[in-house]
Formats: sequence, structure tokens, C-alpha cells
Amino acid sequence: MIRITDRKQCCGCSACADSCPHAAITMKPDAMGFSYPSVDSDLCVDCGLCEKVCAFHVPESKATDSCEAIRFPDLMDDSQSGGLAYALMRKAIGAGYIVYGAAIDDDFSVRHRRVDSMDGLSPLRLSKYVQSDMDGIPAQVLKDLKDGRKVLFTGTPCQCAGVASAAGKMRMNLLLADIICHGVPSPAVWKGYLESLEHRQGKKISSVLFRDPSLGWHGHREAVFFGDEKQVGDEYTFFFYQHLMLRPSCSVCPFASLRRASDITMADCWGVEDTLPGFADDNRGCSVLFANTPAGQEFTGDFPDICQRRPMDLPSEKIQPNLYRPSSAHKRVKSFENTYIRKGYDAVLRRFGKGSRSYRIDEFIKKVKRHI
Ligand SMILES: Cc1cc2nc3c(=O)[nH]c(=O)nc-3n(C[C@H](O)[C@H](O)[C@H](O)COP(=O)(O)OP(=O)(O)OC[C@H]3O[C@@H](n4cnc5c(N)ncnc54)[C@H](O)[C@@H]3O)c2cc1C
Repeated sequence: MIRITDRKQCCGCSACADSCPHAAITMKPDAMGFSYPSVDSDLCVDCGLCEKVCAFHVPESKATDSCEAIRFPDLMDDSQSGGLAYALMRKAIGAGYIVYGAAIDDDFSVRHRRVDSMDGLSPLRLSKYVQSDMDGIPAQVLKDLKDGRKVLFTGTPCQCAGVASAAGKMRMNLLLADIICHGVPSPAVWKGYLESLEHRQGKKISSVLFRDPSLGWHGHREAVFFGDEKQVGDEYTFFFYQHLMLRPSCSVCPFASLRRASDITMADCWGVEDTLPGFADDNRGCSVLFANTPAGQEFTGDFPDICQRRPMDLPSEKIQPNLYRPSSAHKRVKSFENTYIRKGYDAVLRRFGKGSRSYRIDEFIKKVKRHI
């Protein structure tokens, strides 16, 4: 029976819950909104399948050793990087696949969604910097595979590993595309942020962009719309980059490595202006593509959409830290969590936000250390 005694040891992929033949496991959110398996001991027969299917360990693959810069001029303006994810999804739908990816729901929570038409792909575009809900998704993927469908699943490396594990012997028609992942933020803080904004503004939010593409590829600020009015800020993005609200398992992520759990890996091609001068200097975006397996190489060999691509050296640890190691948690992460749970979003904003005393002290200490 799966027992999570250390929250760092579960990534919330739902593979255990979806694989239980006795429906003894449900995924339940903790106070930060991160889901963990909860076992009903009356239904559990202790068969051990949930532990076997758990994919939260270093993948057995060998290290990926080549990559290319790639961009899709007609797709990238409404994509986060160079449009690679959208191009993969479009190719897959064109070839009769079912596609899975993360979308924003009407209540602004983020969940994985099943799509079987070109028209349905739009909500899967762009990065949502919050952990997406995977409840029921591994089982749905397995059902598609059993029904003889081919599936492209896109998501974080841990979600891809969970889906692959739940698919088991049906893995053949499953293509996995993961992102290089900095870590996934708390769904509860995301919700708290939006509620606080609505309260402060006295207006209802109509839509959100986690990283507004109209600010250029290098810009990373969130945009919130109140009807026609748009407000751009970085209050939430700041907490993300401070590592104050990432899932505990992100700090020990076994997938933050060149040993990938998926057929394809995609990410921002940071530093491309220096590595390939003239290729993508216009701040419109550029993706980096790693085809990690023969299936990934075959699928990405050509695309129906116009693309520009160029082989390049592997990005360094400085450029893509999470290709080599997990993001370490902020030293005040426990205090952040406790404050959020006891006092809510406005309290963490006051205590840990950009204008807070603790942040100013940290910055001052860093400055002093740089000059010693
Ligand atoms: C939480 C998070 C952390 C990231 N960290 C890094 C990083 O450290 N370095 C880096 O280079 N790139 C990182 N990325 C990836 C990057 O932001 C782009 O998503 C990626 O390059 C794809 O962009 P695109 O233009 O090809 O596709 P887009 O059209 O922008 O498609 C986005 C793709 O990402 C998936 N996706 C979006 N949000 C989520 C989510 N919450 N959970 C799972 N899957 C999601 C969608 O399913 C879709 O396949 C991160 C993305 C997320 C969501």
C-alpha cells in the first residue's frame, strides 16, 4: 500500500490512483493544493501495484546527447517559446493521434485535458506556471491506447513518467513530450493570488496569461484581464522564481537531468543569440528540441508546418540548470507555507513579496557578499 510519509517523495502524477484495480486510492489536495494519494484501507487488498507503478525515480534511459534550435514562424507568436509544442500537437492530430496537455479551466485552475481535433488544441498552448491536475488522466490515456488509438502526451517530466508507467505494456503507441521544468507552483497560492487581486481591484477577472507573449519572448510577467482592461505584473512570477511555492518533490526531482523520461524534450532555447547568432535574434521566440528516443527522432524528423531548425551544442548548466539538477527550495519555504496556510495570500505578499523586509534583507546580504 502506498504511504506518503515524506511529501518530497510524491510528484502527484496520479499513476498509483489510476492503476488501482480496486479503486482504493483517491488523489486529495493538501493545504497548498498539491495532490497526494489517499488509500481507503477497507478497499485496499495490499496487492502492491500502486508501489510498483510509482514512477518517481531516476529514469532508466541513457543521457540525451544532442539537440537543435527550432522555431515555427507561423506558430510562435501565440506560443511560449518557438512554437514546438503546438507544432508537435498539430502534427499528431493530423496523423490521427489523441493529444493531452495542460489547459486553464473556467475557474482558472489548471488541468490536463484530452483533445482529438485541431480546434481543441488552442487551450493547450502557452505555459501555465502552476501544477496541473492529473486526476483520472493516466487511466484515460490507457483507455485510448487499449482502444487502439495513438496518443501524444505533453507535460512535465514527472507527469510523462507517471503516464508511461500506468500505460505499462501498452507504451508502444504512446509518444511522450516533456518540458525542461523549473518546478511546479502551488495551485492554492495561484487561487489565493487571483482572489486577492479581485478583492483589491473590486472587479472580476475574465482571463489570465501566466507569461504574457505580447511582452516578447524574454519577458516573464503575468497578465490579468478584467474585461477589456489588462494589468501586467510580476507578483506571482516573483514567488515562482524565488522557489517559495514549488511542490516539495521538485527540490529532489529525479527527472531534472540529461536522462529524460520522455521521447521528446522541449524548452526555451535561452542563449540562442550567442550560440547561433542571426538565427533567432528578434525576441519572438525559439525552442530547443531534444529527440531522446528513436520514436522521438522519427516523429520530429519533419513537420507539416514551416520550421527553421539548426543543430546546436547541449545548453550549459548555467543556461538550463534544470537539465542538470533540480531547483533548490528557498530557505524560508516552510515559513512561507505556514504563513499561507494560517493567514492566506495577502499575508505572504506582505512577508515574502518583493517589497517585504525579508526580501530586502536577503538582497542586501547578497550584495555585501558579492563585494567581500
Ligand atoms: C511549470 C513550468 C516550468 C518550466 N520551466 C522551464 C525551464 O526551467 N526552462 C525552460 O527552458 N523551459 C521551461 N518551461 C517550458 C517553457 O515555458 C515552454 O512551455 C516550452 O518551451 C514549450 O513552449 P512552446 O512554444 O513549444 O509551446 P506552447 O505552445 O507554449 O505549449 C506549452 C506546452 O507546455 C505544456 N504545459 C503548459 N503548462 C503546463 C503545466 N502546468 N504542466 C504541464 N505541462 C504544461 C502544454 O501541455 C503544452 O504542451 C517550463 C514550463 C512550465 C509549465
